[in-house]
Amino acid sequence: MIKIEKLCKNYDKLEVLKGIDAQVNKGDIIAIIGPSGSGKSTFLRCINKLEEPTSGHIYIKNQDIMSDNTDINLIRQKVGMVFQHFNLFPHKTVMENLTLAPMKLKNLSQEEAEKKALILLEKVGLKDKASAYPNQLSGGQKQRIAIARAMIRNPEILLLDEATANLDSCTEKSVQRALERLMLGRITIVAAHRFSTIKCADKVVVLEKGKICGCGTHEELFENNKIYRELLLNQINN
Ligand code: ADP
Ligand code: MG
Repeated sequence: MIKIEKLCKNYDKLEVLKGIDAQVNKGDIIAIIGPSGSGKSTFLRCINKLEEPTSGHIYIKNQDIMSDNTDINLIRQKVGMVFQHFNLFPHKTVMENLTLAPMKLKNLSQEEAEKKALILLEKVGLKDKASAYPNQLSGGQKQRIAIARAMIRNPEILLLDEATANLDSCTEKSVQRALERLMLGRITIVAAHRFSTIKCADKVVVLEKGKICGCGTHEELFENNKIYRELLLNQINN
């Protein structure tokens, strides 16, 4: 469902992604790990064209998102993304944060959008915060709102960029559980450096300096990938 061929991304002379090939199918949960600066966020951002790839191809449901004939807004409707820093609009209430995009992109009426938003707020345990502003919420609550916002369009593809990295370990666990329930039946690509976040992945891709240096199950990579082992051991020791 997502096919990536020879994806390269440069920022001026800095080559960040150096020829990435990958394929992800419906139902897959794929993790991207790698040292800080290895290109994980850039990779995710290329997938919904928040960054313009320098070369290569990205096909989503057989549509080349780099082609001028592809309507990227239609593709983005299929994609939900959650960032490390929440990216909520500070001057809008929780309800407005949730309903803005579906009303604009999916042409839902305010009533329909608010009905969906309330169902999702209930799922993430924050129904009573609909009229709060982001600065009245804790980090974990903001992140649960960001997750609800990503889910409101029922996306086929879920991109998670360090989505639980800013949370204390107890909140992380509850947000992680909420996320894992939402991953079922979709395509999920999760970039993270914490192993607690990627335990649920069927397949792990290891990025180093913009190249894939390993790909497989946790067990396979533990056996034969030095970077995977180093990242894991580092966390066990800390
Ligand atoms: P990761 O998520 O693995 O930590 P990133 O994808 O954020 O890595 O960054 C990879 C490299 O690209 C880093 O060297 C970073 O400084 C650089 N980079 C990321 N975004 C930009 C940008 N907008 N302009 C210039 N360099 C960038
Ligand atoms: Mg990153």
